[in-house]
Amino acid sequence: MKKKQFKTESKRLLDLMINSVYTNKDIFLRELISNASDALDKLYFKTLTDNSGITRSELEIRIDPDKQARTLTITDNGIGMTKDELETNLGTIAQSGTLAFRTEMNAKEGEKAAETPEVIGQFGVGFYSAFMVAKKITVLSRAYGQDEAYIWTSEGLDGYTVEPAEKDAHGTVITLYLRDDEGEESFGKYLETYTLRDLVKKYSDYIRYPIKMMVETTRAKEHECDCGHEHEEGECDCGHEHEHKEPEYETVTEEQTLNSMVPLWRRNKAELTDEDYNSFYTDKFHDYEAPLAHIHTNAEGSVTYNAILYIPASAPYNLYSKNYKRGLQLYSNGVMIMDNCEELLPEYFGFVKGLVDSPDISLNISREMLQQNRQLRAIANGLKKKIRQELESMLENSREDYEKFFKAFGLSLKYGIYESYGMEAENLQDLLLYRSAKEDKPITLKQYTEALAENQTEIYYACGESAEMIRSLPQYKYLIDKGCDILLMTDNVDEFMVKMMNGYGGKPFKSITDNDVNLESEDEKKAMAEKQAESRELLDAIRTALDGKVKEVRLSARLADSPAALTSEGPLSLEMEKVLSEMPLGGEAKAERILELNPDHPVFEALSAAKDDAEKLGNYAKLLYNQSLIMAGLKIDDPAGFAAAISALIVK
Ligand code: ADP
Ligand code: MG
Repeated sequence: MKKKQFKTESKRLLDLMINSVYTNKDIFLRELISNASDALDKLYFKTLTDNSGITRSELEIRIDPDKQARTLTITDNGIGMTKDELETNLGTIAQSGTLAFRTEMNAKEGEKAAETPEVIGQFGVGFYSAFMVAKKITVLSRAYGQDEAYIWTSEGLDGYTVEPAEKDAHGTVITLYLRDDEGEESFGKYLETYTLRDLVKKYSDYIRYPIKMMVETTRAKEHECDCGHEHEEGECDCGHEHEHKEPEYETVTEEQTLNSMVPLWRRNKAELTDEDYNSFYTDKFHDYEAPLAHIHTNAEGSVTYNAILYIPASAPYNLYSKNYKRGLQLYSNGVMIMDNCEELLPEYFGFVKGLVDSPDISLNISREMLQQNRQLRAIANGLKKKIRQELESMLENSREDYEKFFKAFGLSLKYGIYESYGMEAENLQDLLLYRSAKEDKPITLKQYTEALAENQTEIYYACGESAEMIRSLPQYKYLIDKGCDILLMTDNVDEFMVKMMNGYGGKPFKSITDNDVNLESEDEKKAMAEKQAESRELLDAIRTALDGKVKEVRLSARLADSPAALTSEGPLSLEMEKVLSEMPLGGEAKAERILELNPDHPVFEALSAAKDDAEKLGNYAKLLYNQSLIMAGLKIDDPAGFAAAISALIVK
């Protein structure tokens, strides 16, 4: 029989398939099973009208590994192929596949050849992918309604033959002669039950026909005792005494269906219980904890899809690291095409787990093409809204769950606002929770603004390492005494995020350590300004003694019981300076410092008294400055000098 050559582009693809090194070879099984499933579909629809007596329950796919022969056989009793169909279908790449392939290759033209196999691995290339694992393939097929069968044989690049063959019934038997193992690379693993089972589970679990395989299992042997009766161990009631042996095990081979067939998301929502959703989640996403919530949504119209999404109860340890894999599983009609499709979720909802199944997404799709895929973007938009709605309703209706959620994933939302330069603020601001100073529990921005003190026009917040640190800030007591609530912010990103927001509900944010927080009456302000003018000389002397460390020294009415405090002027706050200085490449950015003194505190009297003793005043100024740094949670410049100055005070 004369060998026929593959069509040119098929040959090129085949060449890449055979010589590819980095591809995900596992996908060959998914491709062959999908083809078999298509063949069963075609037969089923055809026989619906011709009274052939074929029922859906007879239709099946079989996988038979043969270790001796080192072959893997995939069989279906579907529509089969005629001689011509074997030639045209397996001698040329399906047109759609060709197109996608060409686009890819053109885009990659000129780039390193080493990248090419990666490209291939990203999209299904159907039947040919089997050459990644097989050195020889035979396809024995008999078309439905035909008497003759044919066998197609190919050993790769040098072409294929088609010859008459024997086959009892319609359908197709594809036999892969697996390649030899090379070093690390094992092809023999595709003969192992567990590998095949895993691959079917992973990629083809929702194929609507059973995928069957003979599987060896061990089970306890029937126990036969001397009494002549057959019974299970220890169950004999014949009255004789007999020796009870250890149970014996035997290995039996039985047929198993590897796939679960009906996708949960295609089942009627009304029939599904929380338990169904939760066990699906723990199985599929390898979490031991039940999720906080699930979303099951269908859409029809410009794009049709079905999705199940989950909000996990805890954050994985690596959520904020580079190696966390965000994204949803993407299915095309029940066949998985991607494990982590990032394009389906905005980064700030990266904690969401789940899957999307859409008939509008084709099996043969590459990563690059996915990024531009309009349908995919439409799905992503739909899901984003759904997730937000779900979180809003959790916040509204099960506050406790929501607080748990926010503890685990609130940081993601904050980064979402910060990293979008505030573009996402509108979307996410109502999902934020901050601890209220007054109520000592997490509240929303809405709750805060609904309970403003009289005449309060700003949203007060304070940043620090912990709530206790913040509560010890001198400015804290001042605002609380004035009846204002304060949002306590303890994440590094908080203040950076706030600066990206355009206030909330028309109210600007204000840090309590900002120098212009001032709730005094006009008269009080005037009195303070006068006092300040009187003390001008003293304040300047203190500033000089601090040697450029502060931009200004001034009097303040908002220090309550404290003698002094640091505040800042300009865009960078002290807290932001601290966060930046702790970052690896944080740099030297410094906030502009202002030292505020409390004129009603005895310390101020002591300062005034030391006015003419430059050395004493200098020491006092440094002590106060360092003490204010500590209160603000900042590092002091010269700890040894500070300690010496305190000791000197004690022995005096
Ligand atoms: P695609 O599935 O995208 O069309 P493939 O390369 O996977 O491309 O398959 C090429 C063609 O070969 C299929 O379209 C189908 O017509 C035919 N084919 C492959 N496997 C089978 C099978 N098991 N039974 C019947 N036809 C098949
Ligand atoms: Mg296919």
